[in-house]
Amino acid sequence: MNIPIARSDIHIHLSEEHISILFGDSHKLHNIKDLTIPGQFVCSERVIVTGPEGSIEDVVVVGPARRETQVEISITNGLSLGITPPVRMSGNLENTPGCILIGPLGSVSLKKGVIASKRHIHMHTNQAREWNLSDGQSVCVKVPGSRALIFDEVIMRVGEDQAQEMHVDFDEGHAAGITDFQSVEIIP
Ligand SMILES: [Zn+2]
Repeated sequence: MNIPIARSDIHIHLSEEHISILFGDSHKLHNIKDLTIPGQFVCSERVIVTGPEGSIEDVVVVGPARRETQVEISITNGLSLGITPPVRMSGNLENTPGCILIGPLGSVSLKKGVIASKRHIHMHTNQAREWNLSDGQSVCVKVPGSRALIFDEVIMRVGEDQAQEMHVDFDEGHAAGITDFQSVEIIP
């Protein structure tokens, strides 16, 4: 059971309300690159993320707009910002820290929404059925190479709208010497 892996750098998902504040009324995000997961894309828009101890500039916005704004950072990014992000699945934002977002036309003081994304695997329902894997299941994944590593606690995200790809952040990627889109092995 081999799948491609990719590293996610710091990025942000924005609500319509926050897009308007940061980039102007009824602003529409500009797609400059489609991501592997259908419907998800890298935008030309950039924001500054600010925490109590520092800022990170040029943070990529990933579209489309979401119901809630979510800032995905690594633990290392958190050290620069002075924020300790809890490790969460996307969308699970209760009791998470906030930050300040600065765009070209305004700023937003977020009360919550900063997380370190829990490592996960996107998979289409048909492939998951073939391999007997289910949504929400936790699996291990073996990364080969000179820094070979077995990741435990990798959560399956199975759906009809999914493509096949494992996502880790840059800290996890560096720890395992990962090259984007290399193949890794699922160990149920
Ligand atoms: Zn993902």
